[in-house]
Amino acid sequence: MKVIDHINSAKDTLVSFEILPPLKGKTISSIYEHLDPLMAFNPSFINVTYHRSETMFKKKADGTFEKVEVRKRPGTVGICAAIMNHYKVDAVPHLICGGFAKRETEDALIDLHFLGIDNVLVLRGDAAKNESSFEPEPDGHRYAIDLLKQVVCLNQGVYLEEDIKNGGKTNFCIGIAGYPEKHFEAPNLETDLMYLKAKVESGAEYITTQMFFDNQKYFDFVKICRDQGITVPIIPGLKPITTKKQMSMLPKVFHVDLPTDLSKAILQCKTDADVEQVGTEWLIQQSRELKKAGVPVLHYYTLGKPKVIEATVKATF
Ligand code: FAD
Repeated sequence: MKVIDHINSAKDTLVSFEILPPLKGKTISSIYEHLDPLMAFNPSFINVTYHRSETMFKKKADGTFEKVEVRKRPGTVGICAAIMNHYKVDAVPHLICGGFAKRETEDALIDLHFLGIDNVLVLRGDAAKNESSFEPEPDGHRYAIDLLKQVVCLNQGVYLEEDIKNGGKTNFCIGIAGYPEKHFEAPNLETDLMYLKAKVESGAEYITTQMFFDNQKYFDFVKICRDQGITVPIIPGLKPITTKKQMSMLPKVFHVDLPTDLSKAILQCKTDADVEQVGTEWLIQQSRELKKAGVPVLHYYTLGKPKVIEATVKATF
């Protein structure tokens, strides 16, 4: 079932989760162990992130180094299929521009369609670790909107091979990313919103936000989106803080602010267990307020912390 149909048929706020594929070498049982305790909350869908390959230098027998492309977290498509089969819950694979030529994207979409997957979250992806800014593949997409347009074409039965006439159509519900605190490369929020609106006008049916720790940022973002004529559902993305290190890491990597009250409380913590307690309480307050405000879905970035999410959802619903 499509995410948009889950939202449109819901009477109350829904719950969804986001997971990362395990590091290469781990088994699917690590995913089940992570998700099993969360399934009691009947998530409407589960997102699975996509991780492109990284350039590494591998030592050869003769002592010299060779450059190799390694994907540390492969398995997005397989995990989506496993989730749908094992839990009978809809899976939302993330699909990125980075590392894909258009033909590879088309093949990936055909795979997803054959597996019965109805949803994709369409993203640009970040720059590769060895790049200073994002570079598409020679025949790939530079922006998420270009990838989105390819998905829309396939939904209409239009393939890259022009000689495929009356081809089978895919039927993906397309989600996109939104940034309450602005995407870090955008010169200002207005410009970022202009591109966000273009993605919606090109066929995106809902927006999932980057994490935020101050609900006011989400409420302001929704208001400015509505003022700009962006009317699709905006799903808040929520992440727990569980370590002191995240105080500097989250702003650096995800370009989000931590409210003063939260950072003060974390600074007073002696151990990461104390931080986890503070982070859980903060997430519960955020979730309760967002639910009260009638958000369509509470989407949790579970990132190896299913117990925190379990406690939060239990306290919210
Ligand atoms: P875009 O929409 O392409 O925007 C990128 C930048 O370009 C923005 O500054 C925008 O304002 C600007 N822009 C957009 N369109 C145009 C245009 N036509 N012309 C000029 N400028 C333009 N990354 C992964 O690698 N894997 C994942 O699984 C993943 N999951 C994510 C899930 C969520 C909910 C979020 C919020 C992010 C996720 N990311 C993931 C990170 C994401 O890929 C990065 O934030 C990336 O830098 C931007 O992606 P985007 O889809 O917003 O890009």
